[in-house]
Amino acid sequence: MRVWAIANQKGGVGKTTTTLALGRGLAMRGYRVLLVDLDPHASLTRAFGVPADPQPAGVLDLFDENPPELARVVRATEIENLGFVAAQTALATLERRSATQPGLGLALSNALTRGGQAHDFVLFDCAPTLGLLMVNALAAADHVIIPTQTEPLALHGLKGMCRTAEMIQRSRRRPLPVSVLPTLHDRRTRTGAETLKAMQDEHGDMVWNDAIPNDTRICSVEVLTHSSPAAQYPGRGLSAYRRALDWLLLTESRVMEQAA
Ligand code: ADP
Ligand code: MG
Repeated sequence: MRVWAIANQKGGVGKTTTTLALGRGLAMRGYRVLLVDLDPHASLTRAFGVPADPQPAGVLDLFDENPPELARVVRATEIENLGFVAAQTALATLERRSATQPGLGLALSNALTRGGQAHDFVLFDCAPTLGLLMVNALAAADHVIIPTQTEPLALHGLKGMCRTAEMIQRSRRRPLPVSVLPTLHDRRTRTGAETLKAMQDEHGDMVWNDAIPNDTRICSVEVLTHSSPAAQYPGRGLSAYRRALDWLLLTESRVMEQAA
C-alpha cells in the first residue's frame, strides 16, 4: 500500500480535482485505489453524490475511541477499483476534541495499518488548513503531492507547504518525498510561464517539468467520477494528469530505491 497526501495550505489550487484525476488514473491502470476526503467542505464526497449532511458514515468515525474497521466506511464508486471514504461537515469539530483525547494524530495511520491492505494506493484529499487532519495525513503519507497554481501568490503557499512537509519529515524515520504539481496553468499568459519558471528555479526536481492546463472539461464531475464512454475522452487536462501520474510513479520508485 502506498499513501499519497494531496495537500496545500492554500484553497482553490486543484487539490480535489488532482485527487480525483490521479485516483481515477491509478484505478484505470488496475490498481485498487481508495480516496479519503479530509476536507470538512466535502467537495470530493459531494462529487460522488453523497451529501455531507445528514452526516454520512466516514472519516470522522475513524477518530472514535473504538473506531470501526476501515472497510466499514469505504464506499464503492461507479469506477472499477475506486472506493472512497466520505467527509462529514462535523470533521471541523475534531480540532477541539484533540485537546481532550490524546493520540488522535495517528488515527488515520492506525486505520490504514488495521485495514489498508485491501488497497494498493490511498489518496488523501486534504483541507487547506494546517490542523489535526493535515498532521494525520502527513504522518501516514509515503508521498506528498502539492498542487500549485502557476500564479505569483501561489508561490508563497507552496513555500509554507514545503516547510510543513519538512517539519513532519524530521519527526519520522522514513523519507517523505514531496512533489509539486503545477495546476490551472494558462500557457497564453506571461505570468503563468514566469511563475512556472520561478517555481522550477526555486524547488528544482521536486517540480514537474510540465503543467496541468486550465481545462474546464476536467473539472466536470461527470468526467472524473463516472466510467461512461463520454468520460473516456482524454482532453488536454486528463492527458496531462496521465503524464503527471507517470512522473509521480517514477519519482516515487527512485526515492524508494535510494532508501532501500
Ligand atoms: P481545491 O481542492 O484545492 O480547493 P479544486 O480541485 O476544488 O481545488 O479546484 C478549484 C476550482 O478550480 C474548482 O472549481 C475546479 O473545478 C477548478 N479546476 C481545478 N483544476 C482545474 C483545471 N485544470 N482547469 C480548469 N479548472 C480547474
Ligand atoms: Mg478541495
